[in-house]
Amino acid sequence: MKKVRVATIWLDGCAGCHMSVLDIDEAILNVARRAEMVYGPLVDAHEFPKQVDVTLVEGGVSSQEDLEKIRTVRQRSRLVVSLGDCAVTGNISAMRNQTPTRKLLERIYVEGADVMRVVPSDGVPALLRHAVPVHEFVKVDLHVPGCPPSAKAIAFVLEELFEGRVPDLRSKVKFG
Ligand code: SF4
Repeated sequence: MKKVRVATIWLDGCAGCHMSVLDIDEAILNVARRAEMVYGPLVDAHEFPKQVDVTLVEGGVSSQEDLEKIRTVRQRSRLVVSLGDCAVTGNISAMRNQTPTRKLLERIYVEGADVMRVVPSDGVPALLRHAVPVHEFVKVDLHVPGCPPSAKAIAFVLEELFEGRVPDLRSKVKFG
């Protein structure tokens, strides 16, 4: 049986959604049987691969780097799944949106610092004006709300996608 090529990616999120993926207990056996993990925090691949079947996206799109990543993900993935409230609505990542970006950075790196009171620029991706849900930039095939979504819901989503079905999430997920 040809394995489904699965990737996960972490944009502006707290890692909680990835923790929930890791928490799927014995369902991991079915994932291991049906899927090949081709990219993600636990996979030793530096470049997002081509011809991915399913990509789970954690986090909102908050920086120029996030934007480039999600555009690459969309070009190279058959199905893009927004995983968790940050990816679906902006959620925690969008809490900064009420404050102008420059003011926010100065509050953190200058006013809030005791030493090295300077806004970093070297090697730090530029923030977008607002942190936004993934679907504001690319087409999303499935939204899986939750902060984080339950491991049970994630296992269900993967199993349904592996079988070529669209998961019916009505009784399986909730925001928050
Ligand atoms: S949805 Fe919740 S758990 Fe997932 S990245 Fe956002 S804050 Fe973290």
